[in-house]
Amino acid sequence: MPYAYDDQNIFARILRGEIPNDTVMETEHTLAFRDITPQAPVHVLVIPKGPYVTYDHFCDQASDAEIVDFARTCAAICKQEGIAADTTPGYRAISNAGEHPIQEVPHYHMHLLGGRPLGRMLARADD
Ligand code: AMP
Repeated sequence: MPYAYDDQNIFARILRGEIPNDTVMETEHTLAFRDITPQAPVHVLVIPKGPYVTYDHFCDQASDAEIVDFARTCAAICKQEGIAADTTPGYRAISNAGEHPIQEVPHYHMHLLGGRPLGRMLARADD
């Protein structure tokens, strides 16, 4: 089934200014704000302003300008927040898409997490 965007999701409401957010960076096509339940000292959510549900939806349907803007904004946030991997111990970028990874908000978002050791991404049998 094709992606259907629910414009009542909480990030759509943030984009419309209906609920507040702690903005970290905003550009023409992208908004970044702090996660309300941070899992690390730095936990920023980066979202496109357009109505995309998941990473693959965004990469398939967004314009080149939106995609470049999103990617450059992620890089700028890493620098601004002091987690860029060239000069610090680095960060994790995660995006949940759909049911298996338990995507809670059906508006595409990238989590940028850093500021502490994060462990392995997925537990292994020998961990
Ligand atoms: P996911 O499970 O990947 O869809 O992640 C959704 C994230 O959105 C979670 O980490 C929530 O803590 C976060 N979140 C939910 N509501 C808000 C909000 N109003 N402002 C900031 N972050 C939020």
